[in-house]
Amino acid sequence: MFTISNFIGGNICNPISGHYLDNFEPATGKVYSLIPDSDHNDVAVAVEAAQKAFPYWSSLSIETRSVWLIKLADKIEEHLEQFAEAESKDNGKPITLARTMDIPRAVSNFKFFAHAITQFHSESHHMEGVGINYTLRQPIGVVGCISPWNLPLYLLTWKIAPALAAGNTVVAKPSEITPYTAFLLSKVCQEINFPAGVLNFVHGLGPKVGESICVHPSVKAISFTGGTSTGKRIASVAAPMFKKLSLELGGKNPNIIFADCDYEEMLATSVRSSFANQGQICLCGSRIFVERPLYEKFKTDFVARVSKLQVGDPMDNNTKTGAVVSEAHMNKVLSYIELAKAEGGTVITGGERANVPDRCAEGWFINPTVIEGLAYNCRTNQEEIFGPIVTIMPFDTEEEVLMYANSTDYGLAATLWTQNLSRAHRMAEKLASGIVWVNCWLVRDLRTPFGGVKNSGVGREGGMEALHFFTEAKNICISY
Ligand code: NDP
Repeated sequence: MFTISNFIGGNICNPISGHYLDNFEPATGKVYSLIPDSDHNDVAVAVEAAQKAFPYWSSLSIETRSVWLIKLADKIEEHLEQFAEAESKDNGKPITLARTMDIPRAVSNFKFFAHAITQFHSESHHMEGVGINYTLRQPIGVVGCISPWNLPLYLLTWKIAPALAAGNTVVAKPSEITPYTAFLLSKVCQEINFPAGVLNFVHGLGPKVGESICVHPSVKAISFTGGTSTGKRIASVAAPMFKKLSLELGGKNPNIIFADCDYEEMLATSVRSSFANQGQICLCGSRIFVERPLYEKFKTDFVARVSKLQVGDPMDNNTKTGAVVSEAHMNKVLSYIELAKAEGGTVITGGERANVPDRCAEGWFINPTVIEGLAYNCRTNQEEIFGPIVTIMPFDTEEEVLMYANSTDYGLAATLWTQNLSRAHRMAEKLASGIVWVNCWLVRDLRTPFGGVKNSGVGREGGMEALHFFTEAKNICISY
């Protein structure tokens, strides 16, 4: 048992109240560390530290800030194995996934924005015979970054890297369910003597710490990734204070498979896009629509592969499916399986808690589950479940599947499998979604805009979009 601490003003420190929360290892269901149960007092101290650091950090040259971000990236890379173990222990994800996806991506986030900021440019608008406008893109000040538990370091660094690169100082709140890698990052900051107060972590509960960050008058922008209902709450408290808001929220993504697809590629990728990270990636395709001539073959082959996914100890290198993140989340996911049955669905594989022996006997595991026979508009097919569950259903025409795909309140990502180029363009244009992958999934170019439409969010992250969000545009007009 060890204790995770806050990181404020360059110091690893205890919460002012002295109160702590239990931190569980999902694979064992047991408490393995304590985390600060911080409150508005800790947030106030962190904001003060960030305010104090802002004049120094924002006036550094872009090259110098870029070098600091590279130093952070290099240190995470140097400690990659330690970070991967921590992420797997804290979240329940297979260590192989943490090692090959989560932590390398955190490194890339810092490296990418270290370079992107050196290419960031502002605009000039010439008014012939009148004058010239030029636009400055200036850092905002202290910004708040609030991130979820599913990709803890990956999504946290996706926010703090552009915020820091653009010259802001940061008060961040990682999910209270997965705080470990943010704590390791604070140790990395100390190890490289990262300037004090530029990056601060306050650990604790969303309604206490998260909301205190959102309502603090000196925090000028909030970048949030998490559930749609939390996003709504944050907008309701921060918007009346006229803060800049970026909200990356939930999804209920369609995976649309036409009979003319590259079958092997589609099958292998669809297993991944359904169950990677136990289905707890906002981009996972949880509703699979298959063109009718292919439906029975797909169902047989897909179920055969899914039933072979090895559920096991996340620390085992052979494990493909680890634990879900918490007992409460496991119960929520299992309740959706019961709902699906009540709505007339048939579970064709999985459908229950998985038993993993020895040290994991009390862990929170669910067998990857495939359900068929549901209507497109039932609750199971409309609400975000965010676990190892997919539904499959046949379709006959493009119009029909577009209607199914676009029928939810969400619009984050969609996947499309077809060899027909015209159809791919036609469908991609009509899908109500911030991201469309054609014949692939989770292929990410960090320069591209990332975000959702409808209840999946407001604003875009990624590339220059993130640098625009984390800067304020000031237009200067000079008359001839
Ligand atoms: P939550 O919305 O529950 O939490 C996200 C973060 O917000 C956590 O740090 C949480 O703290 C904090 N929080 C909770 N309440 C408040 C509040 N009132 N004010 C400020 N902060 C608050 O999401 P989950 O952690 O459960 O993550 C899963 C969700 O995230 C899914 O809906 C998923 O789709 C979405 N997601 C979206 C992505 C995207 O890019 N669009 C990417 C990844 C996930 P605490 O942990 O203490 O509750």
